[in-house]
Amino acid sequence: MTHIHENHDHQHGPDCGHTAVKHGDHVDYLHDGHMHHMNADGTVEEHALEVSDVNPDGCTSGHACTGHDSGHVHGPGCGHQPVPHGDHIDYLVDGHLHHPHGNHCDDHGPVQLV
Ligand SMILES: [Zn+2]
Ligand SMILES: [Zn+2]
Ligand SMILES: [Zn+2]
Ligand SMILES: [Zn+2]
Ligand SMILES: [Zn+2]
Ligand SMILES: [Zn+2]
Ligand SMILES: [Zn+2]
Repeated sequence: MTHIHENHDHQHGPDCGHTAVKHGDHVDYLHDGHMHHMNADGTVEEHALEVSDVNPDGCTSGHACTGHDSGHVHGPGCGHQPVPHGDHIDYLVDGHLHHPHGNHCDDHGPVQLV
């Protein structure tokens, strides 16, 4: 299933200012909570990281993390980049995915930054 982002007037590329992440054999860009893939013809596809062994979507309640204070609440403007993962949104913290879950964050695995 391919979802094309309509009316996308920004050209993603090296130095465009958005965080570039490796996704399989290509590079996507984090943009307003979406993961955008530029096609050669200029259209933009919505991508999300797959739930996998590398990026599981389970609860890791014991995740001890120095990425942020224990009282940190992820949300719009929290300072971390939202990343689509499976059917939910995670936040990029120190190169891995955080999923807010109750009073802790789950570790949903590493993200390869380009
Ligand atoms: Zn961009
Ligand atoms: Zn975009
Ligand atoms: Zn992709
Ligand atoms: Zn959890
Ligand atoms: Zn963490
Ligand atoms: Zn945050
Ligand atoms: Zn996740």
